[in-house]
Amino acid sequence: MKRIAILGSTGSIGTQALEVIKANPDSFELEVITAHSNADLLIAQALAFKPNVVVIAREDLYEQVRDALQHEDIKVYAGANALNSVVEMSTVDMVLTAMVGYAGLQPTIRAIQAGKQIALANKETLVVAGQLITELAREKGVNIYPVDSEHSAIFQCLAGEFHNPIEKIILTASGGPFRGRKAEELRLVTKAQALKHPNWDMGAKITIDSASLMNKGLEVIEAKWLFGLRNDQIEVVVHPQSIIHSLVQFEDGSIKAQLGLPDMKLPIQYALGYPQRLKSDFPRFNFLDYPQLTFEQPDLKTFRNLQLAYNAMEQGGNMPCILNAANEVAVSAFLRDEVGFLEMSDIIESCMAKVMYIANPSYNDYVDTDREARLRALELVK
Ligand code: NAD
Ligand code: MG
Repeated sequence: MKRIAILGSTGSIGTQALEVIKANPDSFELEVITAHSNADLLIAQALAFKPNVVVIAREDLYEQVRDALQHEDIKVYAGANALNSVVEMSTVDMVLTAMVGYAGLQPTIRAIQAGKQIALANKETLVVAGQLITELAREKGVNIYPVDSEHSAIFQCLAGEFHNPIEKIILTASGGPFRGRKAEELRLVTKAQALKHPNWDMGAKITIDSASLMNKGLEVIEAKWLFGLRNDQIEVVVHPQSIIHSLVQFEDGSIKAQLGLPDMKLPIQYALGYPQRLKSDFPRFNFLDYPQLTFEQPDLKTFRNLQLAYNAMEQGGNMPCILNAANEVAVSAFLRDEVGFLEMSDIIESCMAKVMYIANPSYNDYVDTDREARLRALELVK
């Protein structure tokens, strides 16, 4: 029985994780759920799942949640600091980081310091501070199980192969809703168009990142740290059907792939249940429904965010942190109709050129870098 804390239980990953936990009552016990501002859904989840602890990050919503749960044996806390404390509780075995963005960094660090196993959905954590996180995890004997479907695919391909060196990995990308378009056509695309992902139903931020290919850029950096790879060992190929979730090539030339219908519940369940493959009733893939699986080169000239992410990874240090912070600001400005689709790349590029570069950042350097990059990006939005 694994006792689970979910950071971000009201989101796309969080709600699907709850479905997985509900379907496997003999394997998982829900200990903690947390959310940012969706108090109504958090309350409904608490009443349905009866965790021991509930955290609402927005402090002004504390009374609403506490009052709604006053007849239950459930502790209610509020604020960002509460997130840092609940991941350390002795009753938690594994923390699923399903919150979005840089806000996931601190609670992830605290969970690793407390020796909790991590099921990592919050890729921004590894993009910002991959070196620090992976070193800390090694020191504490903590495993980081990937939830991202591409990284789960690679992890699944590596089962039984951990003694065999990887020659390279190939991350697949759907290409998003604007695959095949040229820059001129992207200038005026709307957020409604960008929010329509062909294959996956996800939170708003990652859906915009998928349309701009920044998501794949973040995943390249995430893969580097998760699997300890050199930059030149990570390739991206566009595969619009999203059936092959990613591939690993070994030193004898053999390639292993993991396939399935696009459904995040499978990688979530694999991360929570590892090393067990739990029985599921998820819809099964049928080759005859997909007579063609196709592959293309990503268009780095049009989708500049992917190139910017490669550049940030090459430069290392705090550069991926700058990239991430500028991107978070740019995406939320795009979602408020304050900047155009292509302007997001301009903002990120400018921040990467202007924010002070630090080759060997400490935790505090990341905090300062994130703040400075956000301020600069916000000025550019105005
Ligand atoms: P989402 O927007 O649907 O949900 C985000 C969750 O985080 C919500 O529960 C929200 O309350 C919480 N949250 C947001 N900001 C917070 C803050 N400042 N403090 C505390 N809690 C906060 O996002 P999502 O699509 O579920 O994605 C979550 C993470 O998983 C992201 O890092 C994303 O890149 C990654 N991921 C998602 C998918 C997917 O299919 N949705 C796939 C792969 C990876
Ligand atoms: Mg992914």
